[in-house]
Amino acid sequence: MATNGTPTVGWSPSSWKSKPIVQGVTYDDQASFKKALSKLNTLPPLVTPREIAKLKNELREVALGNAFLLQGGDCAELFDYCNQDMIEAKVKLLLQMSLVLLYGGKKKVVRVARMAGQYAKPRSSPMETIDGVSMASFRGDILNSYEADPVARVPDPNRLVDAYFHSAATQNYLRAALSSGLADLHAPLDWSLGHVRDPSVRDNYQRIVERITDTLDMMRTIGLDTGGGLETVDLFTSHEGLLLEYEQSLTRLFKHPSNALPVDTPLSIPSNSSKARKASLPTQFPPPLPPTEGYYDTSAHFIWIGDRTRQLTHAHVDFFRGIANPIGVKVGPSMPPSDLVPLLNILNPTHEIGKIVLITRYGQEKIAMHLPGHIRAVQQSPHRDTVVWQCDPMHGNGRNATVTVPNSSGTSTTTIKTRRFSDILSELRQALQIHRSMSSYLGGVHLELTGEAVTECVGGAEQLTEEDLSLNYTTFCDPRLNEKQALELAFLVAGFYRE
Ligand code: PEP
Ligand code: MN
Repeated sequence: MATNGTPTVGWSPSSWKSKPIVQGVTYDDQASFKKALSKLNTLPPLVTPREIAKLKNELREVALGNAFLLQGGDCAELFDYCNQDMIEAKVKLLLQMSLVLLYGGKKKVVRVARMAGQYAKPRSSPMETIDGVSMASFRGDILNSYEADPVARVPDPNRLVDAYFHSAATQNYLRAALSSGLADLHAPLDWSLGHVRDPSVRDNYQRIVERITDTLDMMRTIGLDTGGGLETVDLFTSHEGLLLEYEQSLTRLFKHPSNALPVDTPLSIPSNSSKARKASLPTQFPPPLPPTEGYYDTSAHFIWIGDRTRQLTHAHVDFFRGIANPIGVKVGPSMPPSDLVPLLNILNPTHEIGKIVLITRYGQEKIAMHLPGHIRAVQQSPHRDTVVWQCDPMHGNGRNATVTVPNSSGTSTTTIKTRRFSDILSELRQALQIHRSMSSYLGGVHLELTGEAVTECVGGAEQLTEEDLSLNYTTFCDPRLNEKQALELAFLVAGFYRE
């Protein structure tokens, strides 16, 4: 029987254990591992079903074309990022980007941070060699240490509990700061655009900022802001649901909250919308009784399956099919269109609108080859118009750069990962055009970004070059947009939506 669109036949929070798994973890210290899991099992949820249902309702609006999804944060969140300055910087950046996108698309923006739990990383190689020493790859703070020492790289089960408490502290400060006015739109925001070298580009951005600040001022002047709408904003949390032992421990059975939509909620489609076709979605007959309870993964509001772990018959897909949260799936060039609909059938058999976010990440050279086939496959299935299409223009656009770094004997050259701002922008622009040309809606962007002034991606208005990369390259996994590049991307995307 279904629970809020979630099939429970043959499923339990631990049923994934009988399936093959990729990127799995083996702990040598089984006693500590068991102790860590029993501790996690008793700790309270990090987020609540009511909040999760609220996000799902908002994603439903995104799927229907009435809202836009902005998701962003670090590639690998470290426990050390759990501090006031870094949390605030990221929240402010996401807020500013969302205002720019709101201006551009004239649609409500749903904000989801890759934060308060983005601690586990899939790796292409389990081992690496640093300074001639072979060791396990860094797999995220929830698993092992990034310290280049074979002992520190052994998976440590105590990190599971550490991850919970860092997630809780981050989540706690997010809630406290938001409810105390961190995102209060009455307060002036710092939009400093001095770094934008091209004067015409700067003028253009300045005009957008003036329009946004004028609108906020006007709302204040005429008292439209007294309803409480400007004091704070919603910010949901998300991470890749990679470490299933951790996700399982925080997955609990709850009564569906009163704000959760039943699966067979009548569709509210504006009659002038291209989505009006949706009225022909298949209905189940006789209709299922409304389920009253479901399993919620309370580690975050939203979790996603990575591009490396989405095999139809494997553990991650099995775990995800049973939870009531809205979920994402990364879709890259290696996904045959013929696999996409079977995957959606498993993850969303009742065709809940907004349940699934397809996070496409092909690379700017490959998107035109793959995205149309994926859109077509979904359009020709019962899932048409139920998914949120989100573009991740980061993960298909990685490239290597050779940089010179200081060392004890002078300097040496090393290879680091980077991304070009122009490639990121190109994939986003192509995604938007392809969706438009196929009467599909690009509902969101998924970005790796930070509120710090890092130098990890090249290009952007500051015109960072490969020589600049070693100035402040601090990521422990993939290169992120810095705060200026991220805001600039929002300005440019806003421009696309106005075209
Ligand atoms: C990521 O989002 O950091 C990631 C590993 O992405 P993907 O699964 O798309 O490679
Ligand atoms: Mn990444």
